[in-house]
Amino acid sequence: MNSFWHRVQRWTTNNFYSTPTSILSREACLPPIISYCRYRRRLAALRIACAPPNANPASARLPQSFPSLSSFRAQDASRHLTIGPSSVNLPLSWRTKVPSPPIRKHLPVDALAHLTLPLQEGLTRLPLVLHAPPPPGTDIPPPDLMRKTYQALRTRAKNMLIQDWITDDPTPTDYEYPPTLSPHPFMGLGKFVACRIHQMRSGKSYVAAHPSWSDEEADPTCPRCEMGPESFQHTTLTCPARKRAQDLLLKEVSSLAHDATTWTDPLLIRALGEYITDTRTGFPSDMLPDRFSPPPPPIPQIKKHGFPAEVFFLLAFAVGDCMFYFPLLNFPCKKRLERELVLVL
Ligand SMILES: [Zn+2]
Repeated sequence: MNSFWHRVQRWTTNNFYSTPTSILSREACLPPIISYCRYRRRLAALRIACAPPNANPASARLPQSFPSLSSFRAQDASRHLTIGPSSVNLPLSWRTKVPSPPIRKHLPVDALAHLTLPLQEGLTRLPLVLHAPPPPGTDIPPPDLMRKTYQALRTRAKNMLIQDWITDDPTPTDYEYPPTLSPHPFMGLGKFVACRIHQMRSGKSYVAAHPSWSDEEADPTCPRCEMGPESFQHTTLTCPARKRAQDLLLKEVSSLAHDATTWTDPLLIRALGEYITDTRTGFPSDMLPDRFSPPPPPIPQIKKHGFPAEVFFLLAFAVGDCMFYFPLLNFPCKKRLERELVLVL
């Protein structure tokens, strides 16, 4: 499943296979599958925890000590079954973390309730998402307030996902862009141009200073100006050979850092896309003009034989003569022909 998820991330970004998976997930805006599944389970638990127990059967089976606004619980036969066994065999309380190795476990509904524990910080009771206003005279908070609280708890779960993403899947130190669940605005450019940007941000691209798995020791010098390593910063903002396009299109772009407006301003993003297309920055070498292409690799020399070509000609002539005389030497009526010749004499 993890391999499939990485493949989906590559479909999204068109990044090289040499790109680290932690960078790949940030470029694709798709968190690691383990963190994302944990987030989805937490959202499902929150939905059950905030549903009215008289409307959702799963909510009616939450533990009695669960901090819900409703105290209604359905008859739960499975809990009666746990009265007899000793304390060692009892299921864990929903508030308790599962020990490692897991000797005792939560009941399924208690495991769901346990997932909501980090979201309950600062709350004595979880809100109820009511589909109808509460009856008059009750002290239940207004439905709008509880709905807003529910949305805030969902946002809190999303922030926890981002934190898990950073903790569980750290990136190399030279990659500075933070994880986000919303697609990058530059992904609205054409697929080809957006992929150039993904690759250059990742540090694995057709730019000379970005090493490739196939040639780790390639010359990082910019092939257009030959004045320094061709990094993402150099090729976009400081390369003298592309000064005219920079002055024309990227006058407002001063930085490519993670907090620069280049990544949020639609006009700047469009200008960056036009610059990349116009100057063919980060393009594959077979799409570049000849003057920008790196020199072709030397053609491997065919190993020569030790003797000169004249020997071949002599051998060829000798073989040809043999082929010419060979039928005469094996003439079937040779003796008869000799006899006739003797008679003539
Ligand atoms: Zn340059």
